[in-house]
Amino acid sequence: MRVYISADMEGVAGVTAWEQVEPGGGAEYSRCQRLMAAEINAAVHGALEAGAASVTVNDAHGHMRNLLPEDLHPRALLISGTPKKLGMMEGIDRGFQAACFLGYHARAGSAGVLAHTIHDVVQRLEINGQEAGELGLNALLAGCFGVPVVLVSGDTVLAGEARRLQRGIETVIVKEALNYHAARSLPPRLAREKIRLGVARALRKKDFRPLLAPAPVTVTIKFSDPARAAAAAIMPGSQQPDAVTVSYTGVDYLEAYQAARCFIALAKSN
Ligand SMILES: [Zn+2]
Repeated sequence: MRVYISADMEGVAGVTAWEQVEPGGGAEYSRCQRLMAAEINAAVHGALEAGAASVTVNDAHGHMRNLLPEDLHPRALLISGTPKKLGMMEGIDRGFQAACFLGYHARAGSAGVLAHTIHDVVQRLEINGQEAGELGLNALLAGCFGVPVVLVSGDTVLAGEARRLQRGIETVIVKEALNYHAARSLPPRLAREKIRLGVARALRKKDFRPLLAPAPVTVTIKFSDPARAAAAAIMPGSQQPDAVTVSYTGVDYLEAYQAARCFIALAKSN
């Protein structure tokens, strides 16, 4: 069994502020790099206990160089750096049997800690009319390669999002979201133990199915202001139903996902 881990940072136990997850945060950021690595290592332990032959970890946060290779479990392979065509799911392929999303956060506009979808210029994102956050976007990417998402870890709001997305998914709650910048968090040691046990339990279940989006797939993004949407609308093939919204219909999910990435890249650079 090959296991894939997508590792974000905002959903790590103890994290509630942007300076904790951005390199400019200095010592605070360095501490959270270690907290993040420890949660990933707990997940790797759990995967190996459940019989994984290999574990691939994709650093999926910000500039995607948060995990220091020397801090990572020696049995884990690390994908780091950016840009990556599949972003938070770079390296996923049909040879993986399961994916785990660690340190994830809830979608833009929800009550989760540091809730957002890819970038704060995005107010709302929909796939075929259904609202999606990074969890949904990346679960559908895994689905393109026939890989089911079996576990997510993060706050209470993320856990609700996961359960609505996929019945039976294992959710490890490491903190209760009080608001965007506050949480009641488990001690990191306890969070890691829950992650280790949760990953092992999830991988022993055999009844997961990959999440699929019926083709063709339309992605719709509502931006924070008209200037952002105008910049995104430069993309060939885009539609602009109103001043702050753009959409694109792809032949399949992969194309719609790439379009979403392009929309956001244009919007944030203009
Ligand atoms: Zn992140």
